[in-house]
Amino acid sequence: MMNITNLKVWNHERKDFITSDLSFRINKRITNLGEKEIDGSNLICLPTGIDIHVHFREPGYTHKEDMKSGTDAALYSGISTVLDMPNTNPITDTLDQILLKRSIAEKHDFVDVRIAAAITDRNYLNLMKIDEHCDAYKIFMSESFGNLAVKEENIEEALNQLEQIESSKPIFFHAEDSLILKSKVDEKEHAKQRPPEAEAVAVQSVLRWAHDFPSLRFHITHVSCTLSLRLLELTALDNLSTDTCPRYLFFDQNSDLSPSLKKVNPPLRTASDRNNLIEALSKGVIDMISSDHSPHTLEEKKTSCPSGMPGVQELIPSLITLIQANEIEWERAVEAFHVFPSKLLNIEPKDISENCMILDVSNPFEVNKSWIKSKSKWSPFEGKMFYGQVKYVIKSGEIILFS
Ligand SMILES: [Zn+2]
Repeated sequence: MMNITNLKVWNHERKDFITSDLSFRINKRITNLGEKEIDGSNLICLPTGIDIHVHFREPGYTHKEDMKSGTDAALYSGISTVLDMPNTNPITDTLDQILLKRSIAEKHDFVDVRIAAAITDRNYLNLMKIDEHCDAYKIFMSESFGNLAVKEENIEEALNQLEQIESSKPIFFHAEDSLILKSKVDEKEHAKQRPPEAEAVAVQSVLRWAHDFPSLRFHITHVSCTLSLRLLELTALDNLSTDTCPRYLFFDQNSDLSPSLKKVNPPLRTASDRNNLIEALSKGVIDMISSDHSPHTLEEKKTSCPSGMPGVQELIPSLITLIQANEIEWERAVEAFHVFPSKLLNIEPKDISENCMILDVSNPFEVNKSWIKSKSKWSPFEGKMFYGQVKYVIKSGEIILFS
């Protein structure tokens, strides 16, 4: 057993920390844990993180990331569950591919990998075959890495069908309108090719569908701009939720990153978008946080320059860093990385002494190559100081990570 005394433990009812002592069993795979009795006065205990948007790239792009390196990166920063996106190769849009991906993921059982199935122009009439086997759906409203854009009329057909089969799975939308993107092909700069208007028009479509299909659950992922926030502020739909990503809270088009490294979809916006997003997250206009962990190798970023950047390992520390800067309160942060994502993915609530992470929030640490576990071996946050180094991760009452 490992005993930690004087630990500040998050209490969901009181929405605050309560000092107590906790004891944990130690998983067989954890060796050289060192001292078995420690004073936790400088540590805090939080529920583990749930990252509802990652691309672990397996099968098909395992030189960028795979389930092993992706789950290692997640666990190292206290993420216990992820939702893996379907733009792998092959695409996850058939029963066989869902089952294949699940069997790969199960080998890395310290992290619970949930599987999102793509709704595509190929499978949109056959969703009843996959509904009970996937954990969520993903709809790309425009082209992004993997070319999975779905025609708008097919999206509506798919929603009709999901309504008929009484699907309870959340439907994630990459909201950028393909017509607006196509009209901008001549522009040289990525951010101008994919303007905020493209996102806002797509968000409007999702709001309309959420209104028209009240029994289905809609989720708009990686909200990136003020225009979208203005629409979301006016909306009160019980069947709609949203997230944004640390990249949109810490970086904008003027940030000191090369154009290729900062290329993501939707693009980084302006400093004012960035500030408005932080405010929207702190007030709950945006419900949750996700990483959109979308790694490519540095070599690829510098040559063919695909869109995407890593982020799963940075998710929790970046949020803790915003808390330390008084940009967001603990209660909102816990909702954003744990409470609301758990509800979205139907994860049963567990006692915090069973599933938690123990972090040092008083000493900052630098993001550098040796800290990065992702196979892509880079981070847009390199050189930045973060708070929230994870010391232990506990699953089912057992320590499964010590660092
Ligand atoms: Zn993504």
